[in-house]
Amino acid sequence: MGYVRWLGHSAFEIRVDDYTILVDPWLSNPQSPVSVSEYKGKVDLVIVTHDHLDHLGDAVQILRLNPNAKFAAVYELANFVAEQLGDTSGRIVGANIGGPLRIPGIDLKVMFFPATHSSNRGAPTSVVIAGKEATLFHAGDTGLFAEMQFIGELYRPDIAMLPIGSHFTMDVVQAAKAVELLKPRVAIPMHYNTFPVIEADPQEFARLVAEKGLDTKVVILKPGEVYEF
Ligand SMILES: [Zn+2]
Repeated sequence: MGYVRWLGHSAFEIRVDDYTILVDPWLSNPQSPVSVSEYKGKVDLVIVTHDHLDHLGDAVQILRLNPNAKFAAVYELANFVAEQLGDTSGRIVGANIGGPLRIPGIDLKVMFFPATHSSNRGAPTSVVIAGKEATLFHAGDTGLFAEMQFIGELYRPDIAMLPIGSHFTMDVVQAAKAVELLKPRVAIPMHYNTFPVIEADPQEFARLVAEKGLDTKVVILKPGEVYEF
């Protein structure tokens, strides 16, 4: 059995096919219910969508506490993390948009897609993680883009984690349109209410998705809560 646990902002702990994955592990975010040290020796894979500090977060420290964990990101960001760590071993996997990636010891399909956003090191990305138990899509920070429809058609995500906070990303209206394109079974809102500038109402997002008459269930998690699949 797998699960998705929201750790506040865009940080998620995902358990799928017996792997523990952290995506955008800014565990020191103001909503976070966890500390970095809790993850010592527990992580198999860290994925970061782009290098902004609210996403790269505590990745380097987590990798220090998990010497066997792999790290996947766009090439230039992976190089930066390898430098920070002083680690040029095969566990730091620099890749790019496309995929699936070849990550040593990880039998999951991980694929980077675009995100319409900015970043300092390499292109910003969204990511599909496809295991036997479930296929998950984490949108990173992004505006709405039409190729979300291809992600929906090709991979039929069970769970889509979508930013709704506006200003830097989609708002609730655009994220509801993203749900229409992706057609996930479950949509989980993220990247909202961390700061006043990204205030948003997740119930409004749920209402807009319901209005479209889609088969998608919106699951609103509180930081620390788990959705099991
Ligand atoms: Zn962000």
